[in-house]
Amino acid sequence: MIKHRPFLIVVSAPSGSGKTTIVRMVLQKMNDLFYSVSATTRKKRAGEVDGKDYIFVSHETFAKWIDEGKVVEWAEIYGEYYGTPKEPIDRALKEGRDVILDLDIHGKRALEKLYGKDVVSVFLLPPSIEELRRRLISRGAESPEKLKLRLALSKEEMKWGYEYDYIVLNDIREVATDNVISIIKAERMRRERIVNLKEIVGDED
Ligand code: 5GP
Repeated sequence: MIKHRPFLIVVSAPSGSGKTTIVRMVLQKMNDLFYSVSATTRKKRAGEVDGKDYIFVSHETFAKWIDEGKVVEWAEIYGEYYGTPKEPIDRALKEGRDVILDLDIHGKRALEKLYGKDVVSVFLLPPSIEELRRRLISRGAESPEKLKLRLALSKEEMKWGYEYDYIVLNDIREVATDNVISIIKAERMRRERIVNLKEIVGDED
């Protein structure tokens, strides 16, 4: 059997474009993937499950994790910490599982610093600013000023795309999901990742 060295798939998108949905749909179809659950110090919202939506920790614990290098990347948003715990990722990789993460560009960069070529980055591109506007509006009541700000931010964030390995159009959800899955499947077959090629085909001539 061909075996590949496990890798990390990082999915980013402009805020409000529905990236969480795509990652969730990928996970439903590929149950051998490991999803990296973020840690946060913010309070649990109704319906959220500890360990599934987030790992909820105290400020003290989070600060300690930062000091001890136990988070791959982190950010402070409105006075609360958010970050990616390192240990679950390393454990999954050790077990031979590929890991999927949804992070912004800062998270993606931090991940690449640590894991280098074992990171595959995918950028989900909203079909248009108009569509993004529709998605933001359908998500809930935003004041016109807030909407304008969010859209301006998303426009900026679309430039992140320049730094990614793959650009996937996030128009029809099912299609975007299948395209992300195709990328993961192809990456599993990259010759550089195959650890037992020599065993199978013998020494190079
Ligand atoms: P919320 O509190 O609404 O769940 O998330 C607030 C913000 O935290 C979102 O913009 C989300 O992208 C960000 N966030 C969630 N998890 C992480 C993480 O692991 N690292 C970083 N840097 N930001 C995160």
